[in-house]
Amino acid sequence: MTGARLILGKDVSDSIYSELAIRIEALRGRGTVPGLAVVLVGNDPASEVYVRMKGRKCEELGMHSVTTVLPEDTTQEKLLEKVGELNGDSSVHGFLIQLPLPSHIDEKTVINAIDPRKDVDCFHPLNVGKMLIGEPEFLPATPAGVQQMLIRSGIETEGKHVVVVGRSNIVGKPIAAMMMQKGDGADSTVTVAHSRTEDLPSVTRQADILIVAMGRPNFITADMVKEGAVVIDVGTNRIDDPNSPKGQRLVGDVDFESVRNKASAVSPVPGGVGPMTICMLMANTVAAAERAAVSR
Ligand code: NDP
Repeated sequence: MTGARLILGKDVSDSIYSELAIRIEALRGRGTVPGLAVVLVGNDPASEVYVRMKGRKCEELGMHSVTTVLPEDTTQEKLLEKVGELNGDSSVHGFLIQLPLPSHIDEKTVINAIDPRKDVDCFHPLNVGKMLIGEPEFLPATPAGVQQMLIRSGIETEGKHVVVVGRSNIVGKPIAAMMMQKGDGADSTVTVAHSRTEDLPSVTRQADILIVAMGRPNFITADMVKEGAVVIDVGTNRIDDPNSPKGQRLVGDVDFESVRNKASAVSPVPGGVGPMTICMLMANTVAAAERAAVSR
């Protein structure tokens, strides 16, 4: 094999953005401008970057965007007040509280206070439950992005063995739950592996489609991958690199250079799953605006 086909989030997200542009135009024509609000507590630099990217994307798409930055010492009560305000703001169809929150605020309490109809991150337990029973209001952004990469790259998932490495509530568990549903881009036989899994390589080698969300730089090597498998790398890790101008570089959980010679298709880091998360967040916001416009 001379090298795997690359599955690039930029290409996949571009095609989704073109479809969203048509839907946004139609909504605007009917007097609804889809609105996304983001609340950031504190000044975590990585979170600030994400929040700016979300705002910029909204502008590009002709969506309404509101960003609220609250000081690090904001009380839980004040944040809940803000959530209540956004729940009642009809110009905001979806909003999210950027995580992580400072340690004096209980994330669960805040997430539970979000109106599930506006929960575009799909973190509210009601939305997680709806996704699990196959009646989703929203799909969580990163897992939905992974699924769209598979669907739009023409990768057959029906009957295939999908191994997900990682069981977090935001990536591993929802991806596994989505891939086992009935329907397009799913109908898979799913195995979930995690840090307590015995003999991980023997599990990952069974995967027709291997989805990795561990947060362990370059962990998955070619010997852990079946010849011809499809490999999706969700991992985003900064490692030291004296040759890089910033002294660091971004790598995935998959050892790309070795795995690309064994897999049939692989998503690189950067350039793979990365752009999909914001794209699916925008898609969720447009869907929420469409539902709000119908029920008006
Ligand atoms: P978490 O740290 O919450 O979860 C990591 C998971 O990997 C856990 O379930 C853990 O197992 C498992 N794991 C860790 N080490 C091992 C090991 N040696 N063997 C087997 N399993 C292991 O991370 P997230 O799910 O939040 O994120 C995963 C990665 O994806 C990170 O690099 C993150 O930055 C990236 N990410 C990228 C996004 C994007 O937009 N591209 C969005 C979200 C995340 P256990 O449960 O037993 O501890």
